[in-house]
Amino acid sequence: MILVLVEHEGGVPARTSVEAATFARELGGPIHGVAFGDGGAEALAAGGEYGVSAGTHVRISEGFAPGAWAQALADAVTNETSAVIAPGTDRGNEILAHLGAKTQAPFVANCVAAALSSDGWTLTRQRWGGSLLEDARAQGPLILLSVAPHAVAPEPGGEVVSVTIDTIEPTVSSEDLRVRATWVEATEAGVSLADARLVVGGGRGVGGAAGFAALDTLAAALGGAVGVSRAVTSAGWRPHAEQIGQTGTRIAPELYIPCGISGASQHMVGCRGAKKLLTVNTDPDAPILSKSDYAVIGDLHQVVPAIIAELANRRA
Ligand SMILES: Cc1cc2nc3c(=O)[nH]c(=O)nc-3n(C[C@H](O)[C@H](O)[C@H](O)COP(=O)(O)OP(=O)(O)OC[C@H]3O[C@@H](n4cnc5c(N)ncnc54)[C@H](O)[C@@H]3O)c2cc1C
Repeated sequence: MILVLVEHEGGVPARTSVEAATFARELGGPIHGVAFGDGGAEALAAGGEYGVSAGTHVRISEGFAPGAWAQALADAVTNETSAVIAPGTDRGNEILAHLGAKTQAPFVANCVAAALSSDGWTLTRQRWGGSLLEDARAQGPLILLSVAPHAVAPEPGGEVVSVTIDTIEPTVSSEDLRVRATWVEATEAGVSLADARLVVGGGRGVGGAAGFAALDTLAAALGGAVGVSRAVTSAGWRPHAEQIGQTGTRIAPELYIPCGISGASQHMVGCRGAKKLLTVNTDPDAPILSKSDYAVIGDLHQVVPAIIAELANRRA
């Protein structure tokens, strides 16, 4: 049996968790989901589409506390559990690190492939922010794996399984609450950058905070989200939550429209999951062009308003 941590937003499984369930299903064996907080049972039920056949919904009134959440996962491990798999998100990796300390099981982070044979586990994982792949081997009756975000396409499992769900309210020790989130500030309602099907990107070429108004308009017109380069967050033009890249969010939209972004490797690892790139840049030799499917060589301050106007014309 494989345990899968199912992160969710109000009962809707996060895309990275659905990717982790798809990854687990390909390893074979029944999948037992574990989800925390309000909406956890709904998230587990939705996991049935991806092969989750049973689940534990954990209610911990203290909210996110990595030690306590890891203990709940440890309690769900049985002699039949061969692996605990989590999405390779900040929380997923943090919880598995605590679980590794509690169980002494090996933890391999940011995997893109895994296979189990009589010699143990053979794993391929991302290193250096996804700029290289490393083969690794691990052994032991229990292994902990996180799945690199957007390295696996989420695939429904064919037959939708009805999930058997237990809800538990564990007793949490004070030691497991030494680190816990005490305040969570929700970002503005809108399309989440990590899950957006279309992302409009803005880099240093936008020229300043005010220049993003046109990019916001284009993203809203297309039902997408705005993402930015680190040059933009470092300048304080936009918040870090919008940064794409090695030290930001990994995106996997159908279409990414980077405007005024040169294509540094640390940015490109964050958008390698995008299916198509339509680049807007004044420099025909910008490195990002070699990774683009389509490009407009021009000033984004003219090109983006022109796209918005054309969209409005066609919709009228
Ligand atoms: C450890 C480390 C981690 C990092 N992590 C990240 C990360 O997570 N994400 C990230 O993005 N970066 C990251 N960086 C920074 C990265 O190396 C680059 O410095 C950064 O991505 C550059 O941002 P940019 O493309 O917006 O700016 P620039 O490289 O300055 O490019 C600006 C581009 O805009 C074009 N341009 C200028 N004016 C216009 C215009 N009017 N119209 C159209 N195009 C125009 C230019 O031709 C140019 O191509 C990291 C760096 C380090 C060392």
